[in-house]
Amino acid sequence: MKLATKIIIGLITGAIVGLLLNIFSPDLFGTLNTFLFTPLGKIFLNLINMLVVPIVFFSITLGVAGLGDPKKLGRIGFKTIAFFLVTTAIAIIIGLALAMIIQPGNVGNFDTAGAKFEAEEAPSTAETLLNIVPTNPIKAFAEGNMLQIIVFSIFVGYGITMLGKKSSALLNVVEQGNDLMMFLVNLVMKFAPYGTFGLIATAVGSQGLPAIKAMGLYMSVVVLALIIHAIFTYGSAVFFLAKYNPLTFFKKFAPAMSVAFSTSSSNATLPVSMETAQKELKVPESISSFVQPLGATINMDGTAIMQGVATIFIAQVYGVSLSPMELVTVVLTAVLASIGTAGVPGVGLIMLAMVLSSVNLPVAGIGLILGIDRLLDMARTAINITGDAACALYVSETEKKHMNLKEEN
Ligand code: ASP
Repeated sequence: MKLATKIIIGLITGAIVGLLLNIFSPDLFGTLNTFLFTPLGKIFLNLINMLVVPIVFFSITLGVAGLGDPKKLGRIGFKTIAFFLVTTAIAIIIGLALAMIIQPGNVGNFDTAGAKFEAEEAPSTAETLLNIVPTNPIKAFAEGNMLQIIVFSIFVGYGITMLGKKSSALLNVVEQGNDLMMFLVNLVMKFAPYGTFGLIATAVGSQGLPAIKAMGLYMSVVVLALIIHAIFTYGSAVFFLAKYNPLTFFKKFAPAMSVAFSTSSSNATLPVSMETAQKELKVPESISSFVQPLGATINMDGTAIMQGVATIFIAQVYGVSLSPMELVTVVLTAVLASIGTAGVPGVGLIMLAMVLSSVNLPVAGIGLILGIDRLLDMARTAINITGDAACALYVSETEKKHMNLKEEN
């Protein structure tokens, strides 16, 4: 049986087992969760998180050294960031529009008096962007600060290219380091079906059904917006920009999406999503290793969709109507908030506080959606990493043309 099939079986059985235990035997769920589901999930998460920092370092360094020409890096960087910004803005607009049409906040009773949410101090996006150059790379590695690791790796890769022969031994080390990491990803992924099972059983089993029912309409709007964005925005980007069959794209990328779904973390899924893009979608290593780690850190379309829907939902519950100017503010701040969202579980919700404050909506409103956010986090993370892969495919296809043109000249 293929690994992808096994992962999907793990995902479905995890959901069924979690749901049945939640309905029929919450006590048994408690015991099984402590001694079986949580350990399985945790071991799997640790195993893949263990590989993230070295993979980002080796692959980006090798990718940049492989590109050789700094101009090419600039062109790829520009295309990547433009793709990320445009698709994120489209994502928020889809979320806002759907929430305004379906009006999930106007149906049902929501207890605004009981809604509490202590806004954690979220790092401001400006601060994150200004700090992308690490003063101490070792600290960046130790803290897993992705943007800083990316910048340091770009410098190292560039230096290796410029030094040429002098650093050929170093290039070998990076090449072999990269091969070693890819080997380890394959090894760790053998455990994925069991890890996925544990993670999903915990997530589904610990959610109360009444909470899910009460928030059903809100959840459906988010999920619908995610599906529309995947099919239309990514589907057309893949079809028109990358000239690739969207069905094949989704089919080949599905295993990575299911890992994102179960881990709720773009960062943790990175090793798998890069491998899938390189092996299945045939994106060159030098492009995948630049676009995808960057995307896992700053490109969060699924998160942006949730933030758009949640803002309108909270406005509706509190009986506030937003002016067109305020809607534009929401789009702009949500783009920034999704850039600032780290690729780990639950951060999108913390960054939502920034969006709400920008239009003076009560941050306490987050308390209303807190309970069911764990489930939506799974779905939006799957979309987050799909956007990165669609971008990698687009960049690789358009770069191919560039190479052909050069050859023809
Ligand atoms: N869990 C998301 C991710 O890692 C971020 C978020 O929306 O909370 O992509």
